[in-house]
Amino acid sequence: MVPPQPSEASVRVSEHVHVVRVRVRSYPEAYSPNVYFVVDGGEALMVDSGFPDDDSVRARLEYLRSLGAPELKLVALTHHHYDHSSGAYRYQQETGVAVAMNPVEAELLRQAAKSASPERTAEERRLRRQAARVRVDMPLEEGAALEVGRLTLRALLMPGHSAGHMCFHLEEEGVLFSGDNVLGIGTTAIAPPPYGDMLQYLDSLRRMQSLDAAIICPGHGPIAHQPRRKIQELIDHRRERDEQVLLLIGQGKDRLSQIVRGIYPELDPRL
Ligand SMILES: [Zn+2]
Repeated sequence: MVPPQPSEASVRVSEHVHVVRVRVRSYPEAYSPNVYFVVDGGEALMVDSGFPDDDSVRARLEYLRSLGAPELKLVALTHHHYDHSSGAYRYQQETGVAVAMNPVEAELLRQAAKSASPERTAEERRLRRQAARVRVDMPLEEGAALEVGRLTLRALLMPGHSAGHMCFHLEEEGVLFSGDNVLGIGTTAIAPPPYGDMLQYLDSLRRMQSLDAAIICPGHGPIAHQPRRKIQELIDHRRERDEQVLLLIGQGKDRLSQIVRGIYPELDPRL
């Protein structure tokens, strides 16, 4: 049997940041979640945990060993969605690492595990339950400073895609971990309140833009090397959508389902 390998897209993003992508059969490759390591001074911090399958966990721990086996100090989760959070409990089991998460997201994680909505597949329900097995050791609040070696990762509350969504800013290197608020491919889905919020999302995008990061490390897809332009595209895209909605309402299409079909024919319901 061929041992699991991180895909060749696992690379060093900046001096202290690495992305480790692992292909998961049940998930479309283009959308597979990005997991990051910030490494300095013999310590490592993981941003998001990806999926809990053996191949993913083994490949990521092997990658970490290949960097000189720094001590995995913390897993910091951007939000509760299972493609980012369901692997966290496995790293706790394997290494005893602590997990940090916003309390609002921790509550949504527990709710998601209990909801038995019929449109979910058995696989999704299983992953939601696995995500809820995590033990949250550190509640993440706006402004929290997460230290790795000599580096500081600043936790920033950026609601929108999810109600307690956090981004992480590695100030020393100008790297912004955007979770699902900014994706490397396509646009992100914004759930209606109380799960997400479009107005808060636009505020978060503007705040992210004001950080003037050099690199955005998104929850899915390629790294963005021109953050200002990338975020401006998203802001403009939302404005266009608003205009489309007003146009469709003007045409008498005021049922929400008609509007969604009219403007999101390409929407992938899995994200
Ligand atoms: Zn998400």
